[in-house]
Amino acid sequence: MRIDVISIFPGYLAPLELSLLGRAADSGLIALRIHDLRAWTHDRHRTVDDTPYGGGAGMVMKAEPWGKALDDLLTLDPAPDDRATRLIVPSPAGRPFTQADAERLSRESRLIFACGRYEGIDQRVLDHFAERVTVEEISVGDFVLSGGEAAALVIVEAIARLIPGFMGNAESLAEESHHPGCGLLESPVYTRPATWRDLEVPAVLLSGNHAKVADWRRDQARRRTAERRPDLLHPSQAVRVEDLVDGTLRDEGAAVVRMATAGDAAELLTLQRACWVQEAQLNDALSLPALVESLDDVRAGIGAWLTWVVRTDSRLVGSVRAGLRGQTWHVSRLMVAPDLHGRGIGRWLLGLAESAAPDEATRLEVFTGAASASNLRMYKRAGYRPMREPFVDAEGREDPGVVRLAKPRGLG
Ligand code: SAM
Repeated sequence: MRIDVISIFPGYLAPLELSLLGRAADSGLIALRIHDLRAWTHDRHRTVDDTPYGGGAGMVMKAEPWGKALDDLLTLDPAPDDRATRLIVPSPAGRPFTQADAERLSRESRLIFACGRYEGIDQRVLDHFAERVTVEEISVGDFVLSGGEAAALVIVEAIARLIPGFMGNAESLAEESHHPGCGLLESPVYTRPATWRDLEVPAVLLSGNHAKVADWRRDQARRRTAERRPDLLHPSQAVRVEDLVDGTLRDEGAAVVRMATAGDAAELLTLQRACWVQEAQLNDALSLPALVESLDDVRAGIGAWLTWVVRTDSRLVGSVRAGLRGQTWHVSRLMVAPDLHGRGIGRWLLGLAESAAPDEATRLEVFTGAASASNLRMYKRAGYRPMREPFVDAEGREDPGVVRLAKPRGLG
């Protein structure tokens, strides 16, 4: 692959000559040339910018030096066909750069990067060269850099490592975050020693059982993606706490919170199974009531408890229920669709159920699996403290795998 980078700060691009990229250049896999835009200026001050037409702050890069630079690169050192050349213009107003773009561009034979500075490059440069080559304006993120050089470094590095022969171990690419094949974030990684500052490597990674290791990695990848980047799982279903509206629809797309009806039962059953599968795995308990109960049980639950549901568009994405037993307001079945975890929706629903406690309630109580670390964290942050009394199931049996937590009314 042939890569040309044009910039007014060619020294900024020195890292391209280091490390693996440098070696790929030495071995001929990548032919890299860095050019100083000012070489194509002819005035005493080597001017590359001017004030913007229409007024406004900042300066704009002039069309003239860019035109000459690109003419020269395309004619003095032509690709077999201009159309085989892509002109990449880093820009915060460009299309977001993704791993799929990196893969696509790694198959190209020639890339020219035009690194802008100031307020960017005169638009006519892009329009003019779009007649000759394919022009792509690419953004490396929703933030503004001072120049296109850092963006070009990022894009070149992401592309180069995908060129066949660049990486010693190409297999490692298949399991990486954002790989188009699976689209998940990669699981955490560990190396020797097995114990470091009292922290252990997860036992499964030391087991030598490849199938179990693969299962663990897949599971971790899904969890991480659900927690950190739920948008990668369901791009159309992003819900924020600010979007939650009690009762009536405020904006289109906002989530609605209302009391559950029998008509919600089937979806509630589906959601609770999706949520409690994770609980069952964490706590090694496969017969949790939320997992095994029937549709009729769920309907009966809606009748027996105050149950709220959260809907976004037509999807049921969260629920919680509460009821008074003696002087205790019991909050339970708090659930949020796994792809929407980490947005504070669970905490918000907990607060909603707590705020509905009647005057007679003097204390609030919740329970969760002893191994459900993130639930325990959320309840503790909300002021709940573990109780000494054991949890007793519907059949009257004590269950040491479940922790009861309580707080006095009005705390947290
Ligand atoms: N006025 C421009 C705007 O608001 O869209 C911002 C210009 S920025 C200060 C200067 C140069 O930095 C751009 O021409 C572009 O080359 C580069 N740049 C800044 N942010 C970028 C981003 N997120 N992705 C790619 N390039 C970026």
